[in-house]
Amino acid sequence: MDEIVLVMNAGSSSLKFAVYRLAGAAELQLAARGQVEGIGTAPRMSARDGRGGMLAVPALSPVICDAATALEQVAGWLRSAFAGARTLGVGHRVVHGGAAYAAPTVVSQGVLTDLRDLIPLAPLHQPYNLAAIDAVAARLPGVPQVACFDTSFHRGRAEVTTVVPLPRDICGDSVQRYGFHGLSYEYIASVLPQCAPAIAAGRVVVAHLGSGASLCALRNGRSVDSTLGFTALDGLCMGTRPGTVDPGVVLYLFQGLGLDAAEVEAILYRKSGLLGISGISNDMRDLLASVEPAARLAVDYFVYRAAKEIGGLAAVLGGIDGLVFTAGIGENSAEIRRRICESSRWLGVELDLDANARHETRLSRPGARVSAWMIPTDEELMIARHTVRLLGIQGAVA
Ligand code: ADP
Repeated sequence: MDEIVLVMNAGSSSLKFAVYRLAGAAELQLAARGQVEGIGTAPRMSARDGRGGMLAVPALSPVICDAATALEQVAGWLRSAFAGARTLGVGHRVVHGGAAYAAPTVVSQGVLTDLRDLIPLAPLHQPYNLAAIDAVAARLPGVPQVACFDTSFHRGRAEVTTVVPLPRDICGDSVQRYGFHGLSYEYIASVLPQCAPAIAAGRVVVAHLGSGASLCALRNGRSVDSTLGFTALDGLCMGTRPGTVDPGVVLYLFQGLGLDAAEVEAILYRKSGLLGISGISNDMRDLLASVEPAARLAVDYFVYRAAKEIGGLAAVLGGIDGLVFTAGIGENSAEIRRRICESSRWLGVELDLDANARHETRLSRPGARVSAWMIPTDEELMIARHTVRLLGIQGAVA
């Protein structure tokens, strides 16, 4: 009988999933990977097998599609595509682990209660992450589930990088700069020795540029600092989140404009960033294709902010040896990579334009003082690795 591990990465507008087989092999074997995108607007589902071949999936109705329905559709498809397989465990991406959860954790009712308390700190992700855990518990009772946190990889950093400079009695233990996208950075750090051995033990800035965007400073594969903080709002400009803003602006929204907390939350999480500046779209592809001045400004600001923060992390590391691009924009947009690299020339980044246009792994010219790379991330594999390790599932050395 097939034995499988499921991985769920559930967000507000997308649900990504992956299935790994444990056929006694030394490494987890990808059996299928897919996603439902455009939940709530124009939902569409896609799935591929382990070799990248398209798999048949149902067409989704735009009328009924919300996050719960998307989960139902995916569950139904998985049941038929893997009929007869035994599910040994399910791993989930959970964005916020707070102060209490420093490492991947087997889910229990008590854990879920703690994680629900963190929903206000990650309203775009945490409720959907936890809903996926509930949905799996209802459908596969008795199958152990593991919560893998985006914050874990950043734990153990120096206090100067985690402190929030407000009164200590107000901050306590819980108000600190956690950092996010940790599963992505952990995966990149795990493959650097094979993909980019020359920099794996060195000083590297990884740019995770997707709908959410951040940078991580790595020294010898460990997180030293990152641009996201207490919540996933800080740092770089994102699809619908602003990145760093003067906190006085937030005060003004309350005091000057009389908005309430729900309205301010909606502005900060869903209406700002690329969407807010452009007024057109949160999708980088739309903005790059647009001739509207507001779209250009949004792209200019995205690049400006990324280059500025790369400089900041280079100062933290005392110089850098490598710059790595990953996630939707970082893996697919040669133009954004080129512009960020041009703005980082002063650091010694020298892009090979042809390699960049061809999306090669090594993007920089031979001999460049700082090498540049494009490495696709794989958060789902990282979650599967944690899940088999934590559950002590035999046969998989991840
Ligand atoms: P998330 O996992 O946070 O939803 P992704 O890493 O999947 O985000 O990245 C999604 C984003 O990647 C999209 O919003 C889109 O802006 C961007 N993207 C994808 N392909 C391209 C491309 N070819 N050019 C520019 N941007 C792209």
